[in-house]
Amino acid sequence: MQRLLLIAAAGLFSAICQAAPKPNFVVIFIDDMGYGDISPFGSTLNETPNLQRMADEGMKLTSFYAAPVCSASRAQLLTGCYAPRVSVPGVFFPAGDKGLNPAEVTVAEYLREAGYATTCIGKWHLGDQPSFLPTRQGFEHYFGIPYSNDMQRATLSGGPRVTPLLRDEEVAELLADEQQRRVTREYTEEAVEFIEQHRDEPFFLYLPHTAMHIPLFPHQDFVGKSDNGIYGDWVAEVDWSVGQVITALRKYDLQENTLVIFTSDNGPWASKGKAGGVSGPLRGSKGGTLEGGVREPTIAWWPGKVKAGSVSDAIAGTTDILPTLVKLAGGKLRSDIKIDGKDISPLLMGETTKSPHRAWYYYHRNDLHAVRSGPWKLAIRPQSLGMGIRERPEDLKTTEPRLYNLDKEIGERTNLADQHPEVVARLQALAKEMMADIGSGRPGPGVRPPGKVENPVTLYPTKPRR
Ligand code: MG
Repeated sequence: MQRLLLIAAAGLFSAICQAAPKPNFVVIFIDDMGYGDISPFGSTLNETPNLQRMADEGMKLTSFYAAPVCSASRAQLLTGCYAPRVSVPGVFFPAGDKGLNPAEVTVAEYLREAGYATTCIGKWHLGDQPSFLPTRQGFEHYFGIPYSNDMQRATLSGGPRVTPLLRDEEVAELLADEQQRRVTREYTEEAVEFIEQHRDEPFFLYLPHTAMHIPLFPHQDFVGKSDNGIYGDWVAEVDWSVGQVITALRKYDLQENTLVIFTSDNGPWASKGKAGGVSGPLRGSKGGTLEGGVREPTIAWWPGKVKAGSVSDAIAGTTDILPTLVKLAGGKLRSDIKIDGKDISPLLMGETTKSPHRAWYYYHRNDLHAVRSGPWKLAIRPQSLGMGIRERPEDLKTTEPRLYNLDKEIGERTNLADQHPEVVARLQALAKEMMADIGSGRPGPGVRPPGKVENPVTLYPTKPRR
């Protein structure tokens, strides 16, 4: 009898376990891909059948925000904070003395604690000193070029400028430019292998691609295959990579227990012409706080949980990934660490259509440029059309507040400040609230320090820079 009871109890226990296994998470983070670069977001130039299928089977998030540049955006995604709160306002360079503070608790650290296998495959860009690497921020393993692929340097022995390919904390290889053509494929193979190895336990796969950052290096198999030049070739390879990941999830029957999020770290590098992407209907590009600089083509996929073919225009962003994944993993956020992100799982599951954000804040370095609430966006500082663009339109030069209704005009050109002084006042008050916390220009009391090291060195011996 006792034995029978035990067996019954064990059965019940295993039924409970089976009823609610912890979901897996895959975050695919593209570099410098524009809002208008993939077909679910209106691209007719680039062919992206896998992303189209992902969107058809999942949810498009049309008001999902990142930060204007690479490092800032990655800090937001991993910490759930606006980048200036964690003192990552811009971009890190090789052998810099600063990085994301190891004391920050990243989404990977939360998930590790919840029993997840974690890995980071691709571009890290939160500092290249040992204490800043992914393996010190909650990722059990790392494989990738740790910063932007245009940050090449020559080795001591001369020769071509190279970028390091890291395996955990060691330089596995130094890649000359042409060798960069391998990385998208190798990241993908590594990702598929990780899924295979960890299919029987909860996992977090963070896949921040080196693509689409300049210099463009699609694999030879994709060169010349698209109708949109080298840029289109590389988009096609990224799309292929997404297909490989989803196929692996299906192969191991994990599709109903895995949330996949696809998004980009900032807008397209428009000043590079054909080598940069496009922001579609949005104004502006990478490096700026117009919508084109920070609104990203975003898709959430989780068959059976996220409704197929759904669209959400509610305000959300990379800051929300940490609280959302921690919630879905059954974890608890630490109450002693202030974050800006919100749990958007009710939005993804279709339980609500409302954004959990009262406002979204557009920081450019440490300066608060704009604030959005509902359809209204108030710009309070001069803005640029993007990194490297000399043209400075008159309407963006002014320090007078500009009010746009993004629901009515996504391209933010018609200043409605005079017609809606009450909205201007409301958004100004929201801006003031954030300035009293994170600050603007000067850091506010809510800002935490960056990580810092003495005597930083490059990951491989390089010639001293003159
Ligand atoms: Mg970028």
